[in-house]
Amino acid sequence: MILVADLHTHSIASGHAFSTIQENAQAAARKGLEILGVTDHGPQMPGGPHEYYFYSLFALPDFLEGVRLIRGVEANIIDDQGNLDLPKDLLSRLELVAAGFHDICSPDGTAEENTEAMVAAIASNWVDIIVHPGNPNFKVIPKEIVEAALQHGIVLEINNSSLGAGGARQGSYDNCLEIASLAAETGLTVVVGSDAHFAGSIGSFEKALKLIEKAGIKPEQVLNTSSTKVLDYLENRRQIRQRLFKSNS
Ligand SMILES: [Zn+2]
Ligand SMILES: [Zn+2]
Repeated sequence: MILVADLHTHSIASGHAFSTIQENAQAAARKGLEILGVTDHGPQMPGGPHEYYFYSLFALPDFLEGVRLIRGVEANIIDDQGNLDLPKDLLSRLELVAAGFHDICSPDGTAEENTEAMVAAIASNWVDIIVHPGNPNFKVIPKEIVEAALQHGIVLEINNSSLGAGGARQGSYDNCLEIASLAAETGLTVVVGSDAHFAGSIGSFEKALKLIEKAGIKPEQVLNTSSTKVLDYLENRRQIRQRLFKSNS
């Protein structure tokens, strides 16, 4: 399976990542990627950027090193209603809103409470991609998350960084495999993200690819096997967010 986009990457703006957007774009070009999602952490992450950073993403060119940049965020789910840590006008403008649970930023909950918060975030329509839903520090009920994603047309991420020895979110593998297997059964669209915090990890998908192939997920079910699929999905989602913002304001 060949992937043409990495929609989950961090730059030095995240406060705990080590490369610039320029370096990330160079790395993406070297790996043959066509699209790079710039998804620094939301402002509630300690050391994370102020919301002004996200407004300023529009100072970036559409293409850098020949790679299409997607101006996004990896927002924090901050309460049990599935709210995120950026204002709605900003969420309506960005080209990609990824969101998930993070230590310190998200409330500790039982699997039922976490599931309720994640389903609320999915159902809110402000989120395009739910990141690392297999995180064992924020257990969820996979069946309910997959059903909600199917119902609302939202994509779930299989996160490569969650699957490495010594990497982030140790103990994710079984949860990710269960989510991927449910996705394979139901035809849910998934996306593979590197979650790179260093340019050298941009486009690193090997462990996640192995897992989704084992689960029986087909290439046509994976968002980032095609640039057209990625751009169409994100444009459609952005229009939904913009309509939502207009109707709420
Ligand atoms: Zn991070
Ligand atoms: Zn994350």
